[in-house]
Amino acid sequence: MTVHLTVAGFLQPANILKYRHLFARTQWLSHAELEAFQLARLREIVDHAYHHVPYYRDLFRLLKLTPADIRQTSDLRKLPRLSKAVARREHRRLQADNCSRFRPAIHRTSGSTGAEHAFLLDRETNAVEFAYYWRYWNWAGYRLGDRFAEFSSSYFSREGLHERPFVRQPFTGRLLLNSLSFTRASAMAYAQAIERHGARFLKGLPSVLGFFARFLRDAGKDRLGLAAIFTTGELLLPSQRALLESCLGGSVYDSYGQMERLVAISECSQRRMHVNSDYGLLEFGADDEDGESSETGRSSRGCLGTSLYNRSMPLLRYELGDVIEPEASRVRCACGRGLPLVRAITGRVSDSLATPDGRIVPTLFLVFRDVAGIEAGQFVHEAADRLSIRVVASEAFTDTEHARLLTLVRWHVGPSMALAVARVRPEELVLDPSGKLKMIVSRVEARQLD
Ligand SMILES: [Zn+2]
Repeated sequence: MTVHLTVAGFLQPANILKYRHLFARTQWLSHAELEAFQLARLREIVDHAYHHVPYYRDLFRLLKLTPADIRQTSDLRKLPRLSKAVARREHRRLQADNCSRFRPAIHRTSGSTGAEHAFLLDRETNAVEFAYYWRYWNWAGYRLGDRFAEFSSSYFSREGLHERPFVRQPFTGRLLLNSLSFTRASAMAYAQAIERHGARFLKGLPSVLGFFARFLRDAGKDRLGLAAIFTTGELLLPSQRALLESCLGGSVYDSYGQMERLVAISECSQRRMHVNSDYGLLEFGADDEDGESSETGRSSRGCLGTSLYNRSMPLLRYELGDVIEPEASRVRCACGRGLPLVRAITGRVSDSLATPDGRIVPTLFLVFRDVAGIEAGQFVHEAADRLSIRVVASEAFTDTEHARLLTLVRWHVGPSMALAVARVRPEELVLDPSGKLKMIVSRVEARQLD
């Protein structure tokens, strides 16, 4: 059974206001106060997991631990990481024995490997989610009730509305735009629908919004009267950000999250990325944990998330599958918020490339960040020893930048691969079934890499 998010699931105004007031206050706390807040919530969740979740009850016994051993957030490292594979396998034993108290809904997500993962989320986490989004959008000037538009594929495929371009939801102020039926030819009609709706905010994947911006620019369309653009779900490139801001109007506010609702990171008006540490607990892939780090000095293991609210299926130290770069120092953001900062979200751990001389290269697509004029990019692993670099480029992608791109990629993949750069149109980039831009398209049989 798949239970999808329904408007009814969010009809809990008392809870929404409770978290709205809480989050309005906690964002201004000091680092120390936020840590104390986080620790108090963590200890409640750990205590609950120990007493009610069979998987954790057994794990704590095996490790000869009790909840009293978690005296600070770093003590969580006494527990092992929880991989997606283990979470899938232990699905039943991760459910709390009193989970019906929390009126959970089953959510399903399919990972990049295609393996389905089902998990439970308490009804109350809908209110937490709502309050988090409300605050993040507030940072960009959004007020509850303001009209906005959102590119979506999941809504239209779920409702069987593949051909329908738009759906207006009167009570939420939302205009849903179908990214499944969106093409260069229909871009202008989408722009007109946004204008007719009076949307001041637009949300979507960076790649979809980037295609939209380019198509409108090519058609000679003026900027839309947007106040802000919310991007999420993919790595946002600097050139992509510039493209969106110049062609659509409004500032871009990027964010990061996942269906499991463990960690949320969002951008403020100072263009800094804040970890919402009052929403969930983020651990960076610590290199000293088991000594595994990549050649570039970043951990290739990715980050961990721990829920601070969900009781029907608490996930502790869950592998998010993403690499996030921590901020070197604990500076407070110029916006005044105490929520900690991260330098960048740098993508999926699974997007790594194997070279003929045996290197495993993680997060290769980060090179796109360091080359001017790339509005979107994608690697195509054509053969074991051949890599195509496909870029959607602006005028700023000069011969010098072209050479820089080749040098950077060569530095990552070593001497054993032939490289070629191809300039492509946005329509030529390959998307995955959910409409996200694939960072690496592999045309190599798995056996060739063994
Ligand atoms: Zn800030």
